[in-house]
Amino acid sequence: MKCIVCKKEAVIKLPSHHSAFCVEHFLQFFLRRVDKAIRRYRMFHANAKILVAVSGGKDSLVLWSSLLELGYDASGIFINLGIEPNSDIAEDKVKQFAKENNAQLHIVDVKDYLGATIPEVNKIVKKPICSVCGMVRRYILNSEAKRLGYSVLATGHNLDDEAATLLGNTLHWYEGYLKRQYPTLGEEQGFVRKVKPLVLCSEKETLAYAVIRQIDFDSERCPFSRGATSQFYKHILNLIEHDMPGTKQNFLCEFFRKMSGNIYNSSEKDKLTPCEICGYPTSAGKKCSFCRLKEQIGGETYMSLLEKVV
Ligand SMILES: [Zn+2]
Ligand SMILES: [Zn+2]
Repeated sequence: MKCIVCKKEAVIKLPSHHSAFCVEHFLQFFLRRVDKAIRRYRMFHANAKILVAVSGGKDSLVLWSSLLELGYDASGIFINLGIEPNSDIAEDKVKQFAKENNAQLHIVDVKDYLGATIPEVNKIVKKPICSVCGMVRRYILNSEAKRLGYSVLATGHNLDDEAATLLGNTLHWYEGYLKRQYPTLGEEQGFVRKVKPLVLCSEKETLAYAVIRQIDFDSERCPFSRGATSQFYKHILNLIEHDMPGTKQNFLCEFFRKMSGNIYNSSEKDKLTPCEICGYPTSAGKKCSFCRLKEQIGGETYMSLLEKVV
């Protein structure tokens, strides 16, 4: 197997692109894919101030690395969720990356924002913790991006993540989610601009980039994550991809192409109003989900409940 560019021995074969590459030309290919996504989905301009949401996992660190490599002004933000020992291990890896790459890093403690760590929230709140944690992280990322003066918030969702989400949203016809599944969501109604520059890069390519670049990422999965459904969808898509290379990418990109006309013209967007406590845009009524969660775990209730569980 030879690199299609230089005919040297290839280290990676990419059937969906009818390609194989050596180390040097794979890195070049990967960065071109990131750049292509940024341009195709009009994510940001060359001089944008970008905030990258980093978890310590491979995708977000690869995203940060590739944006820096492409010459963008990209800083990182890490939210310590208070999951022991995972959160501290992840924080160390993110700090190490920032130091090695001479990049700016913001660190936020979920306890400072919410008054409780995610394991504490899990003991108190009855809802599935992953959706609560996701809501809390989106809230903090949006608030911090605005507070720190960033124009764009970037997340590390890759092609496999997005294709699995699309499959799930389609199987259940979650129209509300389908309407908002796009690699670029413009600034609107109190939300900062959100982008997913790895949307054209597969899981395999992202992992290969991390390994070649020797990025020391956190490979531990969250202890709360069951993740069974999205993992199952990824598995199904990989089975299809194995027999029909390129299907995954086609499935996702064609959806985005069809959506691009609609999404910005959509007149039936959900009406959002500012939360009466914090001003965050919400469709949930007078108070946003974050403020309601904070109330639920706050003050006496929080302490007394904690005493009960300890
Ligand atoms: Zn080559
Ligand atoms: Zn609020």
